[in-house]
Amino acid sequence: MTAVVDKFIKYVKYNTESDTQTGLTPSTVGQMDLANELVKELSEMGMSNVTLDENGYVMAELPSNIEKEVPVVGFISHMDTSPDFTGKNVKPQFVENYDGGDIVLNKEQNIIMKVADFPDLKMYKGQTLITTNGTTLLGADDKAGIAEIMTAVEFLINHPEIKHGPVHIGFTPDEEIGQGADYFNVQKFGADFAYTLDGGELGELQFENFNAAYAEVTFKGRNVHPGMAKDKMINSMNIVQEFRAQLPKDEVPEKTEDYEGFYHLLGIEGSVENSKLKYIIRDFDITAYEARKHKFETICKELQLQYGEENVILEMKDQYFNMREKIEPVKFIVDIAEQAMRDVGVTPLVVPIRGGTDGSRLSYMGLPCPNIFAGGHNFHGRFEYVPVDSMQKAVDVILKVIELISKR
Ligand SMILES: [Zn+2]
Repeated sequence: MTAVVDKFIKYVKYNTESDTQTGLTPSTVGQMDLANELVKELSEMGMSNVTLDENGYVMAELPSNIEKEVPVVGFISHMDTSPDFTGKNVKPQFVENYDGGDIVLNKEQNIIMKVADFPDLKMYKGQTLITTNGTTLLGADDKAGIAEIMTAVEFLINHPEIKHGPVHIGFTPDEEIGQGADYFNVQKFGADFAYTLDGGELGELQFENFNAAYAEVTFKGRNVHPGMAKDKMINSMNIVQEFRAQLPKDEVPEKTEDYEGFYHLLGIEGSVENSKLKYIIRDFDITAYEARKHKFETICKELQLQYGEENVILEMKDQYFNMREKIEPVKFIVDIAEQAMRDVGVTPLVVPIRGGTDGSRLSYMGLPCPNIFAGGHNFHGRFEYVPVDSMQKAVDVILKVIELISKR
């Protein structure tokens, strides 16, 4: 096996599923276990300033071996896996010389990954794929990224004849629960810019993401015996209906793509007395994003006039913003990644992220941070897989980025 595969297989065996409920950072102890393993490996391979803080952030530095002053480049991946699907007892399986057909992940439980459902599989005919055994997620999101970064810096340490500037690397906890950047010490990290290795398929390069808000709307009603309710009862679930009716029906995740924004209803709680809607609001364009939030405010104001201010309560907060605004002034960092991909024979796929990454928040914390593919597909579920060749290519891209920066 190649170094990147060895590392990947080792890391996915750590259960690092994050958890929104613990209120801790890292949210789960498994992440700390992996962090300790990474620290050990980084120290053994000879990285400098290897640190692990109490929140589970791993940082390490590879000093420059050239005279010339060049920018400090960072590479970042996250250690946790999504709470959407279990990451316990991951048993990766190799599909060698993949024949392009359906893949039986688990014979006993009859779990099959079908090409009809996942046509992207066809791109990898003849390659080696790493899949799950159908009962867990794989964790290529984002342990493929960790393995790729680890392999790249180890390669540079083992090949001191290759000239490079300073390279800083960071592994973060709790990205999947939106907290990966919370305690990231940008100053300590000390890079001029960085790349997250947290994208999907080969070639992905991303520097735009949603502007994102979370909103909860609470409606209060008045319960009265239904037999005597005339002109007395207020059914909060009916106010919910009125609220919902005023939102455009087609601006939802299942009917939008590319640069289109949406309102996404995450959950409803309802009774006559009390109902609550939970929404996420997304848009790439900042003006359109503000207009979406304003729409929530307007609808709520109208309903307040009708039902009383205290009976319609809107709580809304920004979650993250489109990193494009912070990348645009240093656009050359995207150009470098694009060039690096072409130089190693990968066609760049520049696509907007219909979500956020650690990088979107880090960009606003002063560390511009586009996102590069880590190679995996079908994240957050049992059909997750990663082609070995894509991981190897990601290592090549990291090395090429470092080389291009050292030549600037
Ligand atoms: Zn990820």
